[in-house]
Amino acid sequence: MPSAESRREALKAVWQQAQTCTKCPQLAATRTKVVFGAGNADADLMFVGEAPGANEDRLGVPFVGQAGKLLDTLLGEIGLSRPEVFVCNTLKCRPPGNRDPLPGEIDACQEYLFRQLELIEPRVVCTLGNFATKLLRADVSTGITRLHGQAEERTIGPRTVRLYPLFHPAAALYTPSMLETLRTDFARIPDLLALPAPEQPEPPEAELVVPEPEVAVEAAEPEPQLGLF
Ligand code: URA
Repeated sequence: MPSAESRREALKAVWQQAQTCTKCPQLAATRTKVVFGAGNADADLMFVGEAPGANEDRLGVPFVGQAGKLLDTLLGEIGLSRPEVFVCNTLKCRPPGNRDPLPGEIDACQEYLFRQLELIEPRVVCTLGNFATKLLRADVSTGITRLHGQAEERTIGPRTVRLYPLFHPAAALYTPSMLETLRTDFARIPDLLALPAPEQPEPPEAELVVPEPEVAVEAAEPEPQLGLF
């Protein structure tokens, strides 16, 4: 099992790689900063939002605007703070004008998120809103209104996590009833963190190692010298 230190180093390498990503030419041309994610590289709890907004694009840090303040408040209410968790987004670059992420952009960017999940090894992953929920559940037809507040075990790549869909804080900012629901759902996070870690899938079988044939130590006859070069 890789150590936290080696996973952190690998995460830094993925961060470095993302800094110059041009997989989405439009986003690469219009972004100010790639917003890779921030927080504890060995966090038990991870949040995945939608995409950076204007403030995040300027600072290179996720959830620094109004939605981020609400996220901080809700974390505080369950006794947690940003440096204890890892926060990132489905897209690492801001869509111009804050438009919705396009399916091709989600496809192109998903590898970064999957690597983050693999290297951080969170036990609980809160998806914030529809985009992250649909991607990580691999189901585009079931939305957050039906799924919020219901944790389920999901195997994503090599890791099994407890996936916990939540309303997006930006949506809850302007709808008091949604904010109450988000708060109620948030209050269950400590119970999810207290559960035993989800059982992990078997690692893929190690490559079959074919043993070297044993060297005959007692070759009776000396090899004839054939003058090979
Ligand atoms: N909304 C998001 O989904 N992510 C951010 O980083 C900020 C706002």
